[in-house]
Amino acid sequence: MSGNAMRLQAIRDVEAYVPPAVSFTDAETPGQIFGENVFSSVVMQKRLPKLVYKSVMATIEHGAMLDPLIADAVASAMKDWAMEKGASHYAHVFYPLTGLTAEKHDSFLEPVGDGTALAEFAGKTLVQGEPDASSFPNGGLRNTFEARGYTGWDVTSPAYVLENPNGNTLCIPTVFVSMTGEALDHKTPLLRSQQAMGEHAERILRLFGHDKPAKVVSFCGPEQEYFLVDRHFFLARPDLLNSGRTLFGAKPPKGQEFDDHYFGAIPERVLGFMMDTERELFKLGIPAKTRHNEVAPGQFEIAPMFERGNIAADHQQLLMTTFKTIAKKHGMECLFHEKPFQGVNGSGKHVNFSLGNNQLGSLLVPGDNPHDNAQFLVFCAAVIRAVHKYAGLLRVSVASATNDHRLGANEAPPAIISIFLGDQLADVFDQIAKGPATSSKDRGTMIIGVDTLPQLPTDPGDRNRTSPFAFTGNRFEFRAPGSMQTVSGPMVTINTIMAESLDYIATDLEAAVEAGTDFDTAVQALLTQIITDHGAIVFNGDGYADSWPIEAEKRGLANLRTTLDALPELITDSAMDLFEKYRVFNHREMHSRYEIGLEQYALTIGVEARLTLEMGSTQILPAAVRHQTEVAINVGAVKAAGGEADVAALLEVSGPISQLRTALAALKEALAAETGHSADEAGALAEAEHARDALLPAMTAVRAAADVLEGIVADDLWPLPTYQEMLFIL
Ligand code: ADP
Ligand code: MG
Repeated sequence: MSGNAMRLQAIRDVEAYVPPAVSFTDAETPGQIFGENVFSSVVMQKRLPKLVYKSVMATIEHGAMLDPLIADAVASAMKDWAMEKGASHYAHVFYPLTGLTAEKHDSFLEPVGDGTALAEFAGKTLVQGEPDASSFPNGGLRNTFEARGYTGWDVTSPAYVLENPNGNTLCIPTVFVSMTGEALDHKTPLLRSQQAMGEHAERILRLFGHDKPAKVVSFCGPEQEYFLVDRHFFLARPDLLNSGRTLFGAKPPKGQEFDDHYFGAIPERVLGFMMDTERELFKLGIPAKTRHNEVAPGQFEIAPMFERGNIAADHQQLLMTTFKTIAKKHGMECLFHEKPFQGVNGSGKHVNFSLGNNQLGSLLVPGDNPHDNAQFLVFCAAVIRAVHKYAGLLRVSVASATNDHRLGANEAPPAIISIFLGDQLADVFDQIAKGPATSSKDRGTMIIGVDTLPQLPTDPGDRNRTSPFAFTGNRFEFRAPGSMQTVSGPMVTINTIMAESLDYIATDLEAAVEAGTDFDTAVQALLTQIITDHGAIVFNGDGYADSWPIEAEKRGLANLRTTLDALPELITDSAMDLFEKYRVFNHREMHSRYEIGLEQYALTIGVEARLTLEMGSTQILPAAVRHQTEVAINVGAVKAAGGEADVAALLEVSGPISQLRTALAALKEALAAETGHSADEAGALAEAEHARDALLPAMTAVRAAADVLEGIVADDLWPLPTYQEMLFIL
């Protein structure tokens, strides 16, 4: 089908689209179906013997060890519950370092030897699984002869039943580790880092007079941006299909210039899709809340309510899978790539972070009395210190070949990590730096309890959309993560650098108290010291301004532009010592993540380069040549008839064709020079550098010539759906 015919087909489908019958019927409110398919604490309370329930809750809430006998009881109740919900199989769900979700399904049925089978699900099967790990990236952590990996139940993240037209499955969120206990996934370090952060936060709470603080955890509210495109177009674009982004495509006559899409009316088909996804998410206990159009045509956002970090991370992965599946049902494809369309706004996944517990809520909320404010400022100072000291680690936590197209491109935060505090809070810290603070901007003077700390704003004032790490009233919003990455990576880093900062602060204050220093004075001195040493990270200005990189350099802030600039941050001594000290990663695990980062980078670009070559050679060049032939025949015919032939038209198409040929030949050569599969860090680095230095520029040259041709070749000969079609026909 030519691009042209496809367009007609897509338009017909859009016109004929009938939204599904209402998502929630009168008899079925969102409240009723919320968590319907989740083995939640409410379900457990109903189905488990009291002692068993108490014991599981102790594990969830206080991290107590799980007794094997308890596991048997839970497994049995879980199986009965799941089978009542139509599940025939169970799966340990885990998050390998591909960034995707993996699951291995097993039947509940076990043969008993007389030709029949019994439904069985023992505690040990719930607690531990043994998927073959050899096909997941491990960065040298595992030799093939010991390819076994183990999954282990994450008791804190509830099991759920996933519905499927072909049968339901009981899904158990798990960690994934090697035989030696080293992390092969994203969840293990997340749990480890959460624990470290909580421990030191609790020390600080004790200093502030909370005798027995409840377990402190991190909270995460992920905002997910995504694109929807009609599936006819998606399937006709080998680049979208295989790499998630368009490797060709001229800028459409109309783009996002008019800002008419942002928060505009949601197209009917998209709304049908959104309602359908929300219904599924509700059933899984995922608190989908906000939805709206995003900046670009075809771009949208969903923001579920924040949850405990590891649960938010699991839910986020589940959300992405659900979106993909349901979009198909509505004749669309959901794109999570950070930059599916060149020159059009990209997609991010903002990670809203806070820490707290169920007694005190978020610890990043200013209080209404001096004592609480002092505590708030201490936690804020911990963030400022952590982000300044470990900016490179935050940067590398969002580094990928795909996010490279987005960061620093004037639509997403710059690659320079800085913190936005808002005018009032920045003003307070300014004054703390100068000595005792006495007033908060525009709020009059307040001399208060912790002697000199001012009253604090509860509203951060203006939003700053250009800051990578912004205070937003009760949390910090990390805006650099890419739309397709798991939130675990950034959360692991934030938790760990916070653990270190909180540890530092707690140690300092405990020593002061021990030495008999007045607590308020000690807090005051500590805050002054932190803001003096680390205030350089605070930047309230425009992150897109040309002057910012220059200013940032003066302040000594790093500008790690691309993934390959950022990855070495993982294996600096300071980074490795940090992660080892808080038992999040040992040195081997850090090196493995570094190596996997390089591998994934080279793999991503390698696939794109091969696709560029293939599409350029077999789709675009032939179309252009056909067009050229038609023009040439026309020139001949017109001349023969004695008319004035359009020779310029022939030259117009011939120039870019020869450029395309040259560029394709160069790309082919660059691909031939690939170093091949790497076996170690040095090999992986060489391959990644080749991708950046040889493949990327060669692809760019092919695209440049092809995009010019798109503006010349007859529409009915052009083989690919255009930007205009993909972005506007929904
Ligand atoms: P905005 O448009 O201001 O960015 P959104 O409503 O799109 O706001 O998203 C805000 C996200 O922040 C939501 O996921 C929300 O649940 C989350 N959030 C709110 N409070 C907290 C908090 N204390 N900790 C973590 N996340 C939070
Ligand atoms: Mg938002």
